[in-house]
Amino acid sequence: MATQPPQSSAVDVGKAACAACKKQRKRCDEKCKLAKLFTAEQGGDFEAVHRVFGIKNLLAMLDMVEGEERKRAAREAIVWEARQRLADPVNGSFGQMARLQEQLLKVCEENGMLRRQIKQMHFFMENASGDQRTAFRGST
Ligand SMILES: [Zn+2]
Repeated sequence: MATQPPQSSAVDVGKAACAACKKQRKRCDEKCKLAKLFTAEQGGDFEAVHRVFGIKNLLAMLDMVEGEERKRAAREAIVWEARQRLADPVNGSFGQMARLQEQLLKVCEENGMLRRQIKQMHFFMENASGDQRTAFRGST
């Protein structure tokens, strides 16, 4: 799971190079576009994105988004997408979506079955004699 970038905009870019600059062995200065999105401690996130998309595409994707908060959200999505692709090189995020869809379908079927059982129990309770109701309650 991706770690959250710091919420504060007061990241001291002068002290520790961000994960991107660290990887590229560049000096991380105040102009670095990735300093707030990939801190030095988030090297794993950056590595995944770097392997899947490359730095040029990462910067291009982030450039399409305006605002710090939206860039942070985009960063999370890009990291998730990259990790999915690395975990499943064939299906990537589509594979995860397909698995979740399958799971949802099973849960919906189970929900339907339980609703039918509840309906049957209500019907039984409404139509059963007093002794049958007592016996039924005692069995649960
Ligand atoms: Zn940097």
